[in-house]
Amino acid sequence: METTILVEKETSNTYLGHPKGLFYLFFAELWERFSFYGMKALLMLYMTQKLIFSDHNAFGVFAAYMSLVYVTPLFGGMIADKIIGYRKAIMLGGVLMAIGHFLLSFETPIFFYASLAIIIVGNGFFKPNISSFVGLLYPVGDKRRDSGFTIFYLGVNVGGAIAPLICSWLAISYGWHYGFAMAGIGMLFGLFMFYRGMKVGVFGEKGKIPKKEVYNQKRFGIKQGKLINILSFLVVPIFAVLIVFHQYEHYLVGIVFLLIATILFFIYRKVSKEEKRRLLAVVYFVLLGSLFWAIFEQAGSSVTLFASRNVNLIGINAAQTNSINSGFIMLLAIPFSWLWTYLDRKKINPNAAVKFGIGMFLLGLGFLIFGISGHFSDAFARTPMIFLFIGYFVLTVGELFLSPIGLSKMEALSPAKMVAFIIGIWYSASFFGHFFAGKIAQLTTKVETSSESSWLDSIVHFFTGISNENFLNENFQQLYGYVSTFASFGLLSIVIGIVAILISPWIKKLMV
Ligand code: GLN
Repeated sequence: METTILVEKETSNTYLGHPKGLFYLFFAELWERFSFYGMKALLMLYMTQKLIFSDHNAFGVFAAYMSLVYVTPLFGGMIADKIIGYRKAIMLGGVLMAIGHFLLSFETPIFFYASLAIIIVGNGFFKPNISSFVGLLYPVGDKRRDSGFTIFYLGVNVGGAIAPLICSWLAISYGWHYGFAMAGIGMLFGLFMFYRGMKVGVFGEKGKIPKKEVYNQKRFGIKQGKLINILSFLVVPIFAVLIVFHQYEHYLVGIVFLLIATILFFIYRKVSKEEKRRLLAVVYFVLLGSLFWAIFEQAGSSVTLFASRNVNLIGINAAQTNSINSGFIMLLAIPFSWLWTYLDRKKINPNAAVKFGIGMFLLGLGFLIFGISGHFSDAFARTPMIFLFIGYFVLTVGELFLSPIGLSKMEALSPAKMVAFIIGIWYSASFFGHFFAGKIAQLTTKVETSSESSWLDSIVHFFTGISNENFLNENFQQLYGYVSTFASFGLLSIVIGIVAILISPWIKKLMV
């Protein structure tokens, strides 16, 4: 009796103007990201200090892992759309991720590769489907959607901000396995939150198995829906092998690109005229997203090294500069979610194509600010910390214009019954982005003096205040490597942003 009353109360109510289910998804995702980012923070150090991998190998493994986690959402989304539904996919993904994190506590290379591969598969089931679930809570055309996704994105970043602090403190003070086990416990909390949401009924009938007959159809004598559980373990060795042979990742990037292009081509041929237009808008947003992440993801790599070598850090160390982005999201997400609702009420909310343009522009401006810091370097080629903070602030605002909005838009643009797959395509932007981010980061190390300066060199000189004609010493050469790359890609991103704003009226037409 009591439960029935509770169920009714929870389903009929909204909280802070949003469906109550959003807050269960918020905490489930917060804890899932806690486990993901907590483990990520330990990964490089664990490989180089405990498993004694060379730096080169560790970078390769890290990049392969970070990109592969964003390729499996394509498959996890598709399987949920067609066979098992969001609920089962989220539970399966969460269980796999928890197992992966706990297995990392066994400190040997075999367990290490197996764990990473299990997390990659688990993330494929969890991430696209919990994101699709958020969209499902809002009726078609509901104006609160962007705002809801922005709140959800806050959950992502609260998890992302606190996990590195807690997991690395445990790992350093008590041993690696405590750090990894904490990540696993975080995932269990996430699963519990989602399970609780299902139990109290805040999701209504949403996210259940899409077609019972498809789920129950037998293959090899087993229900196809159940077979997915077995298959998800069987594919683990494939991902382990892909990580071990990470030097061949460019082939994978090519294959994934062709695969996505082929699938989209077949979907395109089958769908209605409006859906065709919207699919083109999806492709456009994913392309911009890939560029965005390729530049943005310098944050964890080249910007962190820049901070440690060429920024006058006061009160924080270079590793901790990684929390600045999440910290600003924690401050800004709620005001932004209010902003979208407010602009909507006033009927002046810019459309997603304009927001993407602004996002690219601000990302570029943030990186340009990192570049401009070169003007103010001291005798040791160290720049004032304030530029790092202001640059991060501006690019974080850019992220809020693009990342949660992209997520929110995918559902609205997806052809019917393939929402999670389209969200998987959105996450593939991070797969491509991480790959190209690695290439951009390498540019920061290739600095040579040149006697004749090209027009690009002159522009870089103008913005960074440092010329590559002759360097005072090695420190300045290194500083030039960073600020010239940041300024060049910053300017590129600004130009792309302006073009994106200019062409937005055409993209808007694709979205109706
Ligand atoms: N930081 C966000 C998250 O972890 C963005 C992910 C992405 O789209 N690349 O969810």
